Amino acid sequence: MPTAMPAKILDGKTLAQQIRRELAGEVAEFHKQSGITPTLAAVLVGDDPASEVYVRNKRRDCEEVGIASRLEKLPVTATQAELLAVIDQLNQDVQVHGILVQLPLPKQIDTEVILEAVSVSKDVDAFHPENVGRLVQGRPVFLPCTPHGVVELLKRNNIATAGKHVVVVGRSDIVGKPLSIMLAQKGADATVTLCHSRTADLPAVTRLADILVVAIGKPNFIVADMVRPGATVIDVGINRVESGLVGDVDFEGVSKVAGAITPVPGGVGPLTRVMLLVNTLTAARRSV
Ligand code: NDP
Repeated sequence: MPTAMPAKILDGKTLAQQIRRELAGEVAEFHKQSGITPTLAAVLVGDDPASEVYVRNKRRDCEEVGIASRLEKLPVTATQAELLAVIDQLNQDVQVHGILVQLPLPKQIDTEVILEAVSVSKDVDAFHPENVGRLVQGRPVFLPCTPHGVVELLKRNNIATAGKHVVVVGRSDIVGKPLSIMLAQKGADATVTLCHSRTADLPAVTRLADILVVAIGKPNFIVADMVRPGATVIDVGINRVESGLVGDVDFEGVSKVAGAITPVPGGVGPLTRVMLLVNTLTAARRSV
């Protein structure tokens, strides 16, 4: 039997660097025209170490492209009213263009209430119901960062979605659900199947995919015989295991059958980060 070609590695890290360079040029040009420095405010409640790292990285990314960033830190004991007051202040501050509330929030705070309190025009995570509704209707202002990162990764690697069968595994509000909607829209034109924990015979469904996107949070869950030979496999999962970070896809096995595959780390993650910067520039542009 001829040995299969190893999969093409879809390098998100290098692609994100390239997009950041492009973005730095756009931010500088916007500043020259308008005198405005796009500004992102991050709101961090508590001292969860992972959240602190995420926020630090997001602020560093901003710096790299010329976006200003602010950090509003509240103690883990902060009340919902206190957090709402901070958000209200940021909503009214004309110098702030994007607001990011780092999740998860402590138990005493209702996440839905908070996400709905962020001004629709500063909602750079695109979690506000109005922005979700706009996305569903195909007239988004902001695209949610991780799904947008996946779409951009496919586009810039010349992987067409039109007429293709895309199988998305995982139906969360931040990844699977919005991504499946985006790929089914006019323009992307994929035929989309959205799977979840109650899907019957998941391997039979994943094997139908021309493009398989996995976002479930289960280390190495998708194995080689769940993948059609030559398929594109996008691994959104980030799982911390003893050996370090791994995705939801068994990279070693699946890369022997897939046509193209994203690594973890260095796949979707870096693009997610860059899309937040894209949305912040969009918010600043719309503010003038
Ligand atoms: P959630 O935990 O919110 O949702 C998980 C989804 O996976 C649910 O829809 C669940 O189904 C489904 N699921 C769980 N187990 C199975 C299974 N055995 N078979 C089929 N479906 C299953 O996850 P998120 O979307 O928030 O995150 C998913 C992963 O992506 C995580 O590892 C997370 O760390 C990562 N992530 C990565 C990002 C990046 O930038 N690369 C950004 C965001 C997340 P059901 O609805 O039926 O419960």
